[in-house]
Amino acid sequence: MTTSAKLHFDLFVIGGGINGAAVACDAAGRNLRVGLAEMQDFAEGTSSRSSKLIHGGLRYLETYDFRLVRDALIEREILMRKAANLVWPLRLVLPHVKGQRPRWMIRLGLFFYDHLYRRKLLQGSQAINLHRHEAGRALKPSFRHAFIYSDCHGDDSRLVIANLLGAQRHGATILPRHRFLGAERSGKVWRVSLKDLRSGNEFDVTCDALVNTAGPWVIDVARSIAGVSVSRRLRMVRGSHIVVPRQWEGEHGYFLQTRDGRLMEAFPYERDFTSIGTTDEPWEEAPEKVRISDKEIDYMLAEVNAFLRRPVTRADIVWSYSGVRPLFEVGGGRDNDLSTLTRDYSFEIDAPEGAPPVLTVFGGKLTTHRKLAEHAMKELHGLLGWSDICRTRTEVLPGGDFGAAGKASYEATVRKRFPWLPEAQVARYVQQYGTRVEDLLSGVHAASDLGECFGADLYKREVDFLIATEWAEASADIIWRRTKVGLRLDREGLERLDRYLEKASA
Ligand SMILES: Cc1cc2nc3c(=O)[nH]c(=O)nc-3n(C[C@H](O)[C@H](O)[C@H](O)COP(=O)(O)OP(=O)(O)OC[C@H]3O[C@@H](n4cnc5c(N)ncnc54)[C@H](O)[C@@H]3O)c2cc1C
Repeated sequence: MTTSAKLHFDLFVIGGGINGAAVACDAAGRNLRVGLAEMQDFAEGTSSRSSKLIHGGLRYLETYDFRLVRDALIEREILMRKAANLVWPLRLVLPHVKGQRPRWMIRLGLFFYDHLYRRKLLQGSQAINLHRHEAGRALKPSFRHAFIYSDCHGDDSRLVIANLLGAQRHGATILPRHRFLGAERSGKVWRVSLKDLRSGNEFDVTCDALVNTAGPWVIDVARSIAGVSVSRRLRMVRGSHIVVPRQWEGEHGYFLQTRDGRLMEAFPYERDFTSIGTTDEPWEEAPEKVRISDKEIDYMLAEVNAFLRRPVTRADIVWSYSGVRPLFEVGGGRDNDLSTLTRDYSFEIDAPEGAPPVLTVFGGKLTTHRKLAEHAMKELHGLLGWSDICRTRTEVLPGGDFGAAGKASYEATVRKRFPWLPEAQVARYVQQYGTRVEDLLSGVHAASDLGECFGADLYKREVDFLIATEWAEASADIIWRRTKVGLRLDREGLERLDRYLEKASA
C-alpha cells in the first residue's frame, strides 16, 4: 500500500492476533469493508504463545467463573466443527494427589464441566485406576487414582491465519507489518495513521469505526487515539512453556496439581514432542521483550518430575517460549493472585453522540475469540446499524471444509493421491492447511516438484505457498508460526531458508 492510497473502511481493526483476526473475519462476513493492521507478523504477539488448549478451563470453576467456562465449552464445539484441522480432541488425565484437592471436589468439578452445556462431540469424564490404565505407565506408582476428561488441543497461530484468510475471502484488506501510529476523529469518520514498517511509508486511511485488539499493547494503542481514555487496569502476566522429546506413549495429556496449588499441563505436541507449561509470573517490561527465566524452567521441571516416572532434565529441552497475558483487574481479593485473575474479556466503548466509535478489547482467551468477535460486532451494530447477521457460528474457516466424510477420510485420499509423500508429511499438511492442500500440491506429481528441501520436511513449494497465500516473509513466520518445522530444522537448513527468503524478497 502506498502513501497515495485513499482508503475508506467501515471498520478498521488494530492488531492481528486471534481477537483482531476474528473481529475482521466476523465483520467482513457481514459484507462490511474491513481493514486490519498488524505491526509484526500475524500472531507474533500472544496468539502464538499460548498453551494451545481450546478448553472450557476446568481451573476457572474454582474461581466460580461458570459463565466463562460455559461459553468456552460451547465455543470448543463450534471450533471443532468450523476448523476441524486446527482443533482436535485431547483426553487429559488429572491424578489425585494426597493433601491436595479431594477426590469428591474433582469429581464435582468434572460433573459441572461435563454438564454445563450439552456436549455432542466429546467423551465425558471418568474415574480411572492408574495402576490399571495405560495413562498410569508414565507416572510414579505412588499415584493410584485419577480422572480422565475431554478438552481440545489446537494450533493457535494457524487459527489466526485461518481467520485472516476468512476475512480476506470476504474482501478484507489485511496489512502485515503495518504499525498503527494514531487516530483522530474528523467529523463522522476516524482518520487513522499507519506506517508500513518495510518501506517506511506513512499514510492515512479513514473508517467509520475502530476496534483496538492490541492485546498486551492495548493501553499504548488506546493512548494514541485522540480524545479517548480507557479506565481498565491491566496486569501483565508471563506464561512460559518448555518442549521436550515425547515422554510417553499414547495421545493423552496430563493436568497436574502443582505443590503450590496451581495446575499445569503436559501433553503430546507436534507428534514427537511433549509440551509442558505454564507459569503465572508478573511481567513489568515491554511485552515484546518477554522471555523464559531459569526460575520458571526449574519450577516446571520440578513440578512435572514430581509426577513422571522418568525425570525430564534441562538437557532434554529442545524449545521454550513465553507470552504475556494482558489480564484486567475486576476488583477484590482475586486480583492479588495472578493465577486467579479473570481470563474473561471485557470491552470499553467510546462513542460520543454523532462521532465515530472505538471499541477497546481487554483480555480474552484463544478459545473464546469467535464469541468475542460476535459480541463486539453486536455492540457496533447497536451503534451503527450494521448487519446483525453473524455467519461465524457455522461458516467453516478456509481449509476446514472436509464435508461429511471428515478430516481422516480427506487425509486418506491425499495419501492415496501422493503415495510417495511420507505419511507424517501428509498428516502435517492436512492438519495445517486442511483442504487447502489442493492449492499447496496443485501440479505436483513427484518429489522433485516440491523443489529444494531446506531440511526436515520443509520444501521450496511450501515456502512459496506461505509467501504467496499467508503473508509469510521471514523464516520465523514460516518455521514457528505457519508451521512448527523449527522443532526439526537444523542451523544449516535455517541459514539456507534465510538466504532463499532474502533472494525471494529482492
Ligand atoms: C502463556 C499463555 C498461555 C495461554 N494459554 C491459553 C490456552 O491454552 N487457551 C486459551 O484459550 N487461551 C490461552 N491464552 C490466552 C490467549 O493466548 C490470548 O487470550 C490471546 O492470544 C490474545 O489474543 P489477542 O489478539 O488479544 O492479543 P495478541 O495475540 O497479543 O495480538 C495483539 C496484536 O496487536 C499487535 N499490535 C500491538 N500494537 C500495535 C500497533 N500499534 N499497530 C499494529 N499492531 C499492533 C501486536 O503486534 C499483536 O500481534 C494463553 C495466554 C498465555 C500468555
